[in-house]
Amino acid sequence: MRILVLSDIHANLTALEAVLATAGTVDAVWCLGDIVGYGPDPNQCIEMIQSLPKLSCILGNHDAAALGQIALESFNQEAQQSIRWLRSELTYANRGFLESLPDKLVTGDVTLAHGSPRNPVWEYLLDPFTAAENFDSFDTLFCFVGHTHLPLAYIFRDDGQVTRESLDGDAPLYLTARTILNPGSTGQPRDHDPRAAYAIFDDEQHTWQPCRVVYDVRSVQRRIFSAGLPERHAMRLLQGW
Ligand code: ZN
Repeated sequence: MRILVLSDIHANLTALEAVLATAGTVDAVWCLGDIVGYGPDPNQCIEMIQSLPKLSCILGNHDAAALGQIALESFNQEAQQSIRWLRSELTYANRGFLESLPDKLVTGDVTLAHGSPRNPVWEYLLDPFTAAENFDSFDTLFCFVGHTHLPLAYIFRDDGQVTRESLDGDAPLYLTARTILNPGSTGQPRDHDPRAAYAIFDDEQHTWQPCRVVYDVRSVQRRIFSAGLPERHAMRLLQGW
């Protein structure tokens, strides 16, 4: 199966549409959480994701915050402002969709978790040491995560060491060991590349293809401004941080 893996859409419909348009025909879509938060299109993004065939989707910390499952105080001031706006915007049906999402999911050889398999909604896998501690927290060959907005892989080597590989090119990765993979962020990249990120996973060949696509950042910025959302959330889209 050719599977589209995407994460951290963050209510950016323009980026999501660009990803869906360039990903081509896929057999399934796996979404690793944070459909909402920061961006101006929360309802449209939830509706678009829900409409995709063979969807597996899990809950992110911003999705949980939208539902009131996480206290506002645990976010910075600007994030609090956008979460308040988000709570007032979400339709009843779309709230219901977010409420239905599990925080962890196993599908075939892969565990899906937003942050980490050990602490699915919250933990950031930013270094190989933290990643190494997480290999005991899933039983499958692979684990796919989002949350850091950085496309990368943590590979469990034969000698027991875990290495971190940045996936900033477009070379495919052939998965020959247990690996934790992150497709990067569709709607708010933070690796200084403003293009929307996603990956194509082949669950038979065990290949992971990192992908990027240019989208119209300016139009998203205009919607952020007109919604009265924090300016910083618009500015960072242009540089991808
Ligand atoms: Zn996120």
